[in-house]
Amino acid sequence: MTEQTAPVRLRAVLDRMPAYVAGRPPAPVEGLTPYKISSNENPYPPLPSVTDALARAAATINRYPDPGVVALTRALSERLGVPAEQIATGTGSVAVLAQLVSITCDQGDEVIYAWRSFEAYPIVVALAGAESVQVPLTADARHDLDAMAAAVTDRTRLVLVCSPNNPTGPTVREDELRAFLAKVPTDVLVVLDEAYLEFTTAPDVPDALAVLADHPNVVVLRTFSKAYGLAGLRVGYAVGHPLVAAALRKAALPFGVTDLAQEAAIASLEAYDELEVRVKELVAERERVLAALAEQGWDVPQAQGNFVWLPLGEDAVDFAAACARQALTVRPFSGDGVRCTIAEPEANDRLLEITAQWLRER
Ligand SMILES: *Cc1c(COP(=O)(O)O)cnc(C)c1O
Repeated sequence: MTEQTAPVRLRAVLDRMPAYVAGRPPAPVEGLTPYKISSNENPYPPLPSVTDALARAAATINRYPDPGVVALTRALSERLGVPAEQIATGTGSVAVLAQLVSITCDQGDEVIYAWRSFEAYPIVVALAGAESVQVPLTADARHDLDAMAAAVTDRTRLVLVCSPNNPTGPTVREDELRAFLAKVPTDVLVVLDEAYLEFTTAPDVPDALAVLADHPNVVVLRTFSKAYGLAGLRVGYAVGHPLVAAALRKAALPFGVTDLAQEAAIASLEAYDELEVRVKELVAERERVLAALAEQGWDVPQAQGNFVWLPLGEDAVDFAAACARQALTVRPFSGDGVRCTIAEPEANDRLLEITAQWLRER
């Protein structure tokens, strides 16, 4: 499409904002099952108990959902062992993130986060009229928490810590997180985005709720989109100080979380033992892929989510094109690297064939 001028006055920030790049399904290739491994989705279909709950909830979609999200909040409260008043839900944790920015930032206030990290961060911050302060990752693709602490100014209102970091994979350690929190002013909100928590296996992954108990300026952000396999229903939540949670509920669009999402999320919490089997399979596949990549000669960072990061630099886009020719959609970040979701074994095998060939041909 050619550049057009809007017929009305739109905010200038829109021109400076990156657009979210959504994963596309791959173009068909003769003889190959296509796989989209670009969005960190869970490859397993919903459990029967979850589709049953959806069918029941479907009978009342002429009604607005419960705006208080009472039943899901209660279920989360029981599951996590925290009072319901500390929990706020939203239409995906991305929406909760937008609420977090809107409860903390006025025009020009600063939000610190690592970069590269989750591509929604710059969008959400810019839309709120706040300023992004991006702190480069370390050479091994981890958060540089010392540099992030040093970046705090009197305009800083929010710090986002993504653990495991999307798209590079490493987690922060509890000791370094606590050391970081000791340096950050206690009136600055620090978000621990744990979208991939269930996939983590490192022994030093923070016990976020324990950290929160010691630091009321911490908020833990979680989602049903990844391990729970409900990406299409849009439901996530934050756990924080009761007054922070209350502010988040105030900042939410009314009736956002549908009853379908609420019922499916409750059914998923009840069926977590079944879901955990799948999570463990994906973690086993991740470890298999990591071992094979190392064997091939790749040097990839710690991978604690349901994805691996190939630090391909200038070759990122070319590598993604090579994957597309094999009916595999990966997520390239131009000039930086490629994020590949751990999916069905066949998709993972195909990825490993492409990575092997890539090194052979260099
Ligand atoms: C996928 C993801 C989310 C979750 O997004 P939803 O809106 O809950 O689907 C949040 N943070 C990160 C870092 C993610 O990768």
